[in-house]
Amino acid sequence: LRILLIGSGGREHALAWKLGQSPLVDVIYTVPGNGGTASVEKVTNISDISPEDYPALLAFAREHEVNLVVPGPEGPLVAGIGSFFRSAGIRCFGPSKTAAQMEGSKTFSKDFMARHNIPTARYQNFTDYAEARQYLDNVSYNVVLKASGLAAGKGVILPSSKTEAYEGLEAIMLTKEFGSSGDEVVIEEYLEGEELSFLTFSDGHTIKSLPPAQDHKQIYDGDKGPNTGGMGAYAPTKIATPQLIEEVHRKILQPTIDGMRKERFPFVGLLFTGLMITKAGPKTLEYNVRFGDPETQTLLPLMDGDLADVMVACTDGCLDSVSFGHYPLYSATVVAAAGGYPGHYDRGDTITLGPPPADTHIFHAGTKAPTPRKTQVDSQLPLQPLHKHADDSYGPRDTCSLQTLTTSGGRVIAATSTGKTLEAAISQAYEGISSISFPDMHFRRDIGKRSLEADSN
Ligand code: ATP
Repeated sequence: LRILLIGSGGREHALAWKLGQSPLVDVIYTVPGNGGTASVEKVTNISDISPEDYPALLAFAREHEVNLVVPGPEGPLVAGIGSFFRSAGIRCFGPSKTAAQMEGSKTFSKDFMARHNIPTARYQNFTDYAEARQYLDNVSYNVVLKASGLAAGKGVILPSSKTEAYEGLEAIMLTKEFGSSGDEVVIEEYLEGEELSFLTFSDGHTIKSLPPAQDHKQIYDGDKGPNTGGMGAYAPTKIATPQLIEEVHRKILQPTIDGMRKERFPFVGLLFTGLMITKAGPKTLEYNVRFGDPETQTLLPLMDGDLADVMVACTDGCLDSVSFGHYPLYSATVVAAAGGYPGHYDRGDTITLGPPPADTHIFHAGTKAPTPRKTQVDSQLPLQPLHKHADDSYGPRDTCSLQTLTTSGGRVIAATSTGKTLEAAISQAYEGISSISFPDMHFRRDIGKRSLEADSN
């Protein structure tokens, strides 16, 4: 396989690492990749094509005989990259533009859940501010306000009073804090419980999930401060009993995939379902139509199987014919962010990396390796035949020392460790993060703490 992997986060580094292990994979082009993907075996970072320039991506894919495209982030999927590559005759591990609305529009996904009796919070959708405000006047439950469109995880407001709810509605619908994402708004019931993330492969019919994970969205310890892309995660989790996993598959995941197929927008790719485990059972908070970050970094080291094989089985409609297991281990990820993130932060600081402890992966996100001397990939080289294992001489690689890395984003780098117990995995991940330093580095010190405390009670 010759893969084009789109994205530059920790998720994409983990995907590149896992895909690179597959004997089916000859070469992976990451557009643009990051300082970590640059040193993964079989991977070449492509920095001179914009990940949003689809015609240029297609030309590159054709020139390099790419036969599997893997978009990492939601932006390209919601913009229709899955449909774009498929109609050009190239496999794409990702849903169609219509199916991607399950993430791109919260009003769309809430109405879908209602049509298919998928457990979720009570809600109402609005396009008109006055009507939404009137609804708030009379609503009998505590509310959550959601800008319908994509807002990088920031378009959800959890008001703690009626006044805050009115202010939040104004921010979304009138002052347009989230731009056109706030043209429509979902007002829904606030749910109490523990959150759980399911990452589920699907070919449109069959589903296969990775072990459920829990993540930590807020920037500070004790779930304080603003929401981020995710500051850490761990799996498996104690609340995800086999009974709960079965119930989620039966009441939520399979009906979702079946409903999408029946409505003629079958889901092919990885469906991320965010759930609240309430006293009344699991309820769906949201769908994402791609791998989560940092859940992917946490879960892929637990996956006992060939990710490339599973992806191709999804795109080719035969997921029932492949199987994968999970190592009987725990995994934990601690994310290090630049000081100031998720607000303003500096870029360009030097990152020092020491040797990581055993059973630990350092997954890069906002890191930049120095520009390699030669950025042109391999247009002058003869193309490798398909299905032939590429050797390391295929195309110039970025061989710069990791010691000269600099920061280039908010979430900079993460340590993921596996261990026989959750405690061991977490403590190893913290050792991993201590092997990294850069100015104003910030990380949470309580990843998985709640679960460990619950265990000891
Ligand atoms: P993400 O960053 O995961 O893409 P998002 O912007 O798509 O986030 P949601 O996942 O719907 O939005 O909500 C973000 C967070 O807000 C959830 O992880 C959860 O903590 C909280 N939340 C959302 N809906 C509810 C609800 N109905 N009740 C309680 N908390 C909620």
